[in-house]
Amino acid sequence: MRLGSTRARRRRRALAQPFPEAWRDLLRRRWALWPALTDDERQRLEPLVQVFIADKRWEGSRRFAVTEEMQVLIAAQACLLVLEMDHDPYHGIGTIIVHPSTIVLHGPRATGTAGVMADGPYPILGQAHHRGPVLISWDAAVAGARHPERGHNIVFHEFAHKLDMLDGTVDGTPPLSDTATLQRWVDVCTREYHALRAGLGGPLLSDYAATNPGEFFAVATEVFFTRPVELREDKPMLYGVLAAFYRQEPAARVA
Ligand SMILES: [Zn+2]
Repeated sequence: MRLGSTRARRRRRALAQPFPEAWRDLLRRRWALWPALTDDERQRLEPLVQVFIADKRWEGSRRFAVTEEMQVLIAAQACLLVLEMDHDPYHGIGTIIVHPSTIVLHGPRATGTAGVMADGPYPILGQAHHRGPVLISWDAAVAGARHPERGHNIVFHEFAHKLDMLDGTVDGTPPLSDTATLQRWVDVCTREYHALRAGLGGPLLSDYAATNPGEFFAVATEVFFTRPVELREDKPMLYGVLAAFYRQEPAARVA
């Protein structure tokens, strides 16, 4: 009970403050998509960013100190995904852990091929744990914010995983509003996923999207928000189901 009320108070306190001009300035300088948003979108994104920053526990890996700049740039990109969603889909996320650069994991892991495990050092740029923290490499977050044309964005990627996990499974299908929407989602994504696995997916989605359906959704989300015009042209049906889920038309933002 106490925890809940402390959390609510923290969120209220964050919203009582005006959005700092320094944060706006930082977003203008470091996030290429920020100027492409409409005034209305930016105005609605700002309070989400304030709440996100106040609501989460921020940790640096080892002696790496998390700065306000890191919080703002990560929070803004994470919140863009949920800008048009009704209640806070990130409510269950407690902690964001920021690493300076590539994170090297050790120990056994699944490879994406059923039953095949791999060992040895494994470099990653981020990770989203089910009911756990989100890990982000700051280097990668900066590069993704600056260069949307490259089609990679680790923040979009990891937070898409978090949306996927909302229904308890990481299967590339986030919670959808009704059976018809779900059926269309499954039809479109399954077809695209199998095309990718067969090497027929085209260059827009990286090979990593063919790892498993969960990675497919995370990579498709990256491309949807960073290279929307190309995605709409190349894979209109995939663009369509993502636009319906996120309730956004990022292709319309690109003049
Ligand atoms: Zn992933």
